[in-house]
Amino acid sequence: TKEDLKKKLDKIDGKGYKAYKDLEGEYEFEKFILHIDHVQGDPFASLSRIRIRVPQNIADFEFSMYNNPSRQVALEDFLTRSVFDVIKMLPSLKGTGHSGDIYIDKGGQQIIKRSAMVVNEDYVEARLSIGLPAFGRRINGSGAQRIFLEFLPQIVEKGLLKKHLNIQDIWLWVETVEDQDYLRSQLKKRGLVAFVADGAILPRESGISDRPLKGGNVVPFESPDSLRIKFQLPNRGEITGMGIPEGVTLIVGGGYHGKSTLLQAIQKGVYNHIPGDGREFVITVADAVKIRAEDGRRIEKVDISPFINNLPNNVDTTRFTTENASGSTSQAANIIEAIEIGTSLLLLDEDTSATNFMIRDARMQKLIAKKEEPITPFIDRVKQLYKDNGISTILVMGGSGDYFDVANCVIKMHNYRPYDVTQEAKEIAKEFKTNREVEGNNEPIVIKPRIPLKKGLEVKGKKIKSKDEDTIRFGYQEIELDYVEQLVDKSQTNAIGEIIRYIASKYVDEKSSIKEILKKVYKDIYEKGLDVVSSFYGKHPGNLALPRLQEVAAALNRLRSFTVK
Ligand code: ADP
Ligand code: MG
Repeated sequence: TKEDLKKKLDKIDGKGYKAYKDLEGEYEFEKFILHIDHVQGDPFASLSRIRIRVPQNIADFEFSMYNNPSRQVALEDFLTRSVFDVIKMLPSLKGTGHSGDIYIDKGGQQIIKRSAMVVNEDYVEARLSIGLPAFGRRINGSGAQRIFLEFLPQIVEKGLLKKHLNIQDIWLWVETVEDQDYLRSQLKKRGLVAFVADGAILPRESGISDRPLKGGNVVPFESPDSLRIKFQLPNRGEITGMGIPEGVTLIVGGGYHGKSTLLQAIQKGVYNHIPGDGREFVITVADAVKIRAEDGRRIEKVDISPFINNLPNNVDTTRFTTENASGSTSQAANIIEAIEIGTSLLLLDEDTSATNFMIRDARMQKLIAKKEEPITPFIDRVKQLYKDNGISTILVMGGSGDYFDVANCVIKMHNYRPYDVTQEAKEIAKEFKTNREVEGNNEPIVIKPRIPLKKGLEVKGKKIKSKDEDTIRFGYQEIELDYVEQLVDKSQTNAIGEIIRYIASKYVDEKSSIKEILKKVYKDIYEKGLDVVSSFYGKHPGNLALPRLQEVAAALNRLRSFTVK
């Protein structure tokens, strides 16, 4: 019980830091059970991990606040943020190293399933990290008593009990997330790949902040009449906005008129966003993948031949391997890998694409014969991708009108407002022929799934650990994820590291493809929760947020030791 904890703390006060280890265990408090799962070795080591479990009859959330997966994630997210806010208000205990730190892994602007909070019919459980307080290397027992006996009960009282929370805000969270998931689930039925609500705020505060841009100059989104559609949402009711149809869509317009901002909002639209973000109802099909050039990345036996053929030195492009990809080969590999794992929408921006991968105009075709040019540009594949593979594309292209010939829909951004210029673009395409020859062949793109080998996933040296949002340390190697743009949370990166470890120990049988393996992982997660991939399953699992299949595959594909059959 709580009294046992107090006794232990009295006893170890002033002793060497290692004596804190005695605390590991379970303690019953009035309104919750405290699990001290892991105690740090010294005040500078990574924080100690605890769980606070409040029985549901005390927390008292109505079942309807979490009775489906959308609502559950929403309530968990809400409570994580509410605990975070309570922690912020606590007095700070200063001391050596991380003394007195109390941390919960709150998300950013997205609402993603995370390990920080679990809500179910039996309990509400918050997973916290704590810096056990010290003076020098000695235990600050009274500090620890304040944290455990004073702060934790406050966190529970103000952060986890329904009666002290703002019920309206809880419902706002729950209903908004449910509406977002519902809208996303309806896109395909309506022949759409993305939806941008009227009134949405797309621009962000800065290049390093994901928060909405504020101020009088922000232009809320307003859909063009011809593309405006309505949805009937379960909670919010009717909503209108721009529907982007399946097929090939171009976003054109002058420089600085908001093209990339629109595309970036769409690429994040695979996730749900918190109320007030401005992108709550910018919703994209869940499997959309941003494609960009990424020279320098590694490629492991990827069939890039639909885009690249006849390289110098007779390099085989059906099993293309390189330690140092070029702009165009990396972009081709990114597309093929996305198709391999499954996608229905590719997102490309001229700003981050390789020019020679995107276009090859008539003049260049005259000067450099097709047999001298290994690349079949994207313009000659994009229609086929939709026709044969059912994969749509949204492409930002302000610099070349050649794409008018292959687009189904052309949206012009002007002063941050969209206009439907499809008809105009079609007429221009008729009047001004590009005179370019269509390149490539008409063979459908068929991808043979690759089968990972065990040896490529052995960790040599230290363990797997994420260093920051964009880097996973994998033994002596580092997986660079800087250009995997739809990875949005450091804890997703953490989770990817754990998932790679999990599949290496469990599912790499040298018979299953990458996709088959990942399907098994997601089935486990669906059945047993996100914690299942953690090496501390059953305890505080670390700070994890659910990544998409696409980002896990992206990490495998960028692991330099990764090998396939
Ligand atoms: P483009 O890709 O067309 O060159 P960007 O999308 O990069 O243009 O946008 C240029 C600038 O305009 C950015 O700083 C962006 O934050 C800002 N911006 C984009 N959309 C809006 C908007 N709706 N209201 C106000 N500013 C915006
Ligand atoms: Mg741009």
